[in-house]
Amino acid sequence: MTDQRPTTNNVGIPVGSDNDSLTLGANGPILLQDHYLIEKNAQFNRERVPERVVHAKGGGAFGFLEVTEDVSQFTKAAVFQPGTRTESLIRFSSVAGESGSPDTWRDPRGFAVKFYTSQGNYDLVGNNTPVFFIRDPIKFPDFIRSQKRRADNHLRDADMQWDFWTLRPESAHQVTWLMGDRGIPSNWREMNGYGSHTYLWENAGGEKFWVKYHFKTDQGIGYLAQADADKLAGDDADHYIRDLFTSIKSGNHPSWTLHVQVMPYEDAADYRFNPFDLTKVWPHGDYPLIKVGRYVLDRNPENYFAQIEQAAFEPSNLVAGIGPSPDKMLQGRLFAYPDAHRYRIGANYTQLPVNAAKSPVNSYAKDGAMRYSNPADPVYAPNSYGGPHADAAYASETVSTYGIEDEVIRSAYKLHSEDDDWGQPGTLVREVMDDAQRERLAANIVGHASADVSAPVLERVIQYWRNVDKNLGDKVATGLNG
Ligand code: NDP
Repeated sequence: MTDQRPTTNNVGIPVGSDNDSLTLGANGPILLQDHYLIEKNAQFNRERVPERVVHAKGGGAFGFLEVTEDVSQFTKAAVFQPGTRTESLIRFSSVAGESGSPDTWRDPRGFAVKFYTSQGNYDLVGNNTPVFFIRDPIKFPDFIRSQKRRADNHLRDADMQWDFWTLRPESAHQVTWLMGDRGIPSNWREMNGYGSHTYLWENAGGEKFWVKYHFKTDQGIGYLAQADADKLAGDDADHYIRDLFTSIKSGNHPSWTLHVQVMPYEDAADYRFNPFDLTKVWPHGDYPLIKVGRYVLDRNPENYFAQIEQAAFEPSNLVAGIGPSPDKMLQGRLFAYPDAHRYRIGANYTQLPVNAAKSPVNSYAKDGAMRYSNPADPVYAPNSYGGPHADAAYASETVSTYGIEDEVIRSAYKLHSEDDDWGQPGTLVREVMDDAQRERLAANIVGHASADVSAPVLERVIQYWRNVDKNLGDKVATGLNG
């Protein structure tokens, strides 16, 4: 049936035509008084917000976390109490490509989760890998520029990527992941998610623990070989978005089992790896996985722009019982994410429905661009007129005092006994991968580093992989020189 409602302009005034602009005679110039024409085109010119400088291409869905186990001995956070079910939003993404780039480019994938908890929003902004390329945020802009496009021809450039990686050996663990099978997941459902950083948990008795999060896919791990990914990049650049959307739409709801690793607070000082270094994992043998609950996605967005493009995740959204660790990358991200949202979607981005808390918001924040709900007087604190007041008894902010007796310096992490850049990627290659996986890893590296990489950088590439694993390095050398 035809919709009987008249089309209106943006303030509800019915409009006469979506066919013809108002002109002076059929062949005459368009009149400036055609307000609707101007509104329509002006609005169109402003439809885009700046795309994210990283993680631009993505998709997402809604769902819930259900806590099936009891981890209350480690945290008092309401979201992790036994039996609690919390509504959630997730956004998956790739990192380096632009918003129209193919989903199947080799890249880490974002795994950003927002929990609408009874204590305010808690965001866990992770990836599908437990580690990262660098361990200090001062290197982040350089790292990302090396993975994006050249200044001269606007092309991505393998020489630039390998130049950076080989000059920063701390990248070896993450690059081993990236070049391995899991560097191109078959879709977002068939990959794990990791909080990656170390966080602080605090229980009701004030006891503190270090924690790492692992979302293990219940669908099983799936990955694409390079050739299949290359083909899909042409056949269906939006393969991941389509897979997630159609799967949820057909009632096939993907799920993950959430686990944590918990380290006693005191262990951090003497553990064999610096536990705050984002290029390191905590081997499961040292800190086994402890099950927490079930994470399920059961609802597609109704509007991609409003609910996914405007979604704003920030590692600084931490609720009582959960705090930051001294992980330098995490510390950098606490600032970077809200800063990016203010630039990208405006100062009042937390009022957008997808970002708004579902628990009461009693903030004194007011005014600014696109503000639509303001606090009533009084608009300052403290006040004598009955406004909300900050109270430590409610907030009980979880903070780390770890290491604050130190002087204020610029320094690399304190090295623990087994800290180096090659050990853990070497273990991954020798002890976790099988022969076939090692062959594919070597082939992926050779394939990636063959294109346009200059001779001095190539020499470093070979040495880099010999440092990770002698046999792997030799294979890469044969493949590249071959
Ligand atoms: P474990 O043998 O206890 O665990 C190995 C881990 O490696 C499992 O989590 C497994 O994930 C994952 N894995 C299997 N195949 C690959 C692959 N091709 N690429 C990347 N990861 C893979 O070992 P440790 O905990 O002692 O760690 C050994 C190495 O395993 C580390 O250096 C690290 O690179 C990697 N790893 C470790 C993790 C940790 O948090 N300890 C997490 C993930 C990887 P799954 O069970 O889902 O198949």
